[in-house]
Amino acid sequence: MSDAPAPNTHNTPKSMDAIMALCKRRGFIFQASDIYGGINGFWDYGPLGAQMKKNLREAWWQDMIMNPAWGRKGPNGDRVKCVPVETRIIQHPKVWEASGHVGGFNDPMVDDKETKQRFRADHFFGVFAKPFSTSWDLETEARNFAKQAAESWEVFPVLGIVASTAGEAEAHLIEHVKGLCKAANLSFSSLERVSDHIIIKGRQADAAMLIHIRQIAPDRLARDAQRLNIPSPFTQKKGTLTEPRQFNLMFSTHVGATASADDKAYLRPETAQGIFLQFKNVVDSTRVKMPFGIGNTGTSFRNEVTPRNFTYRSREFDQAELEFFCHPSESQDWYRFWRDFRMEWWQSIGLRGENLILREHDKDELSHYSCGTSDVEYRFPFTAPGFGELEGIAHRGDYDLTQHAKHSGAKLEYFDQSRGEKLPNGSTKGERYMPHCIEPAAGLDRGVLALLCEAYTVDPSRPSPELMKFHPRIAPIKAAVFPLVDKDGMPEVAEKLYDELFARFGRQGFIEMDAKQSIGKRYARMDEAGCPFCFTIDGQTLTDQTVTVRDRDSGSQQRLALSQVSAFLADRLGG
Ligand code: ATP
Repeated sequence: MSDAPAPNTHNTPKSMDAIMALCKRRGFIFQASDIYGGINGFWDYGPLGAQMKKNLREAWWQDMIMNPAWGRKGPNGDRVKCVPVETRIIQHPKVWEASGHVGGFNDPMVDDKETKQRFRADHFFGVFAKPFSTSWDLETEARNFAKQAAESWEVFPVLGIVASTAGEAEAHLIEHVKGLCKAANLSFSSLERVSDHIIIKGRQADAAMLIHIRQIAPDRLARDAQRLNIPSPFTQKKGTLTEPRQFNLMFSTHVGATASADDKAYLRPETAQGIFLQFKNVVDSTRVKMPFGIGNTGTSFRNEVTPRNFTYRSREFDQAELEFFCHPSESQDWYRFWRDFRMEWWQSIGLRGENLILREHDKDELSHYSCGTSDVEYRFPFTAPGFGELEGIAHRGDYDLTQHAKHSGAKLEYFDQSRGEKLPNGSTKGERYMPHCIEPAAGLDRGVLALLCEAYTVDPSRPSPELMKFHPRIAPIKAAVFPLVDKDGMPEVAEKLYDELFARFGRQGFIEMDAKQSIGKRYARMDEAGCPFCFTIDGQTLTDQTVTVRDRDSGSQQRLALSQVSAFLADRLGG
């Protein structure tokens, strides 16, 4: 996650509690094993959520595999070509040694000895506080204080907070304000953010507290003397934290009945490796020619130390990954191509505007083998004003194929007949090389979460004060048909229209029909579920064969010939 500065137009973040409540109420997302009290880090999808996630996966499949990049030509001037694979969750254990996951897929973990709770050392923020008079120069005081907190190991945080970004830590500060004021003998009046600084003001004239929030470097937690003075994020007591220890994120299991060490296997932590494993078989069994992509979607598992923020950091989640293979000399062009297309793609399905950014990693953030990585990041309510990763687009060089060739002994180089020296007969000699690879790696659960957060809209002036403004392609309910009243021949006309729409669009999502309750209540219910279009059969329909179509976002209505409804929907949904 990053803390890119928020544009000035940024509003107060939406309430995650309200979004989660709507998700449960309307059947988007439920806690897994809910009736047993849930299981941390696992989430199930209800009827609307399951269909929505399917729509997202299908949109990815369509635009990345079947019609990659919307039929655009790539930097080489040719149509982009991709094929799918579907690979297993459990693979040979050596796969994960070759990929580096056994040795290096670790997070530093810290335990609270008293509560037995755990957090990721790199997700730990300290809140530093000092008395402040509002008559002092804020910029100078704040700058000096931030420097002290960063450089002097004699200045300790008064609170510990587990968060992924400073923005998220700041959002949690509010829970602690009363306690902070009490400890400082300040009678609380207000909390203010002035440019980059936070000030808690007291009721007494000039009395205030200057707050600075910064990540506590894991090496600070690794030193005994330092750690004794760092408060636990769970109890705020000092001296109860352990030093950070490396914790491998892969779930392990045993294959077969004996459960001996030799039978140890891992649940995949990413879908990408399955692609590299089948690279040779795909090349040998199909007519794909370099450059081309192989896509894979499915479930991955990571034993996250602190699963948090609804589905954002889960222990079981779905990914949609593409490995695009190309000649090394073209790899930078393809990297830029995919990076830009992926950003455009997320925008095309509804993540528009200031909440979505493309962030190029700094050199020191790159893995040792990567020549470039960008993240598509979304400003989730819990990361605001910062952003959280939705998808990473990485230039992985030839790292993975080379590693698997080394560990398996297989020859994974590609023989490219179109390259190499020109021969007198006009053909080319060919060139053997290890392809380079560009990897756009998206998370489908994070995708659904971002789309839910973006769509969630509060408008107290509407009959449904909460509505979901989904893009029609993503909306789980595509259309609803309502007879204005449940009599006078209207239900029959509605039924006929419903049958027609169901036959044509029912494969893309739900088509609803509802004759109960007032029409206002029925619209409100559809708005809350994010249904983009409602068609109403009324008295006029019976005389002139027109219906009203109501637009969810504006609430406006227009009349449309009954015979035009299908074409109207097809235009907006595709298909
Ligand atoms: P993070 O830094 O947030 O842990 P990552 O950089 O490790 O993510 P990748 O390995 O690049 O993630 O995985 C690709 C995508 O898979 C991510 O962009 C994200 O959408 C998704 N993803 C990764 N870990 C999780 C998780 N624990 N829960 C849900 N989605 C995840």
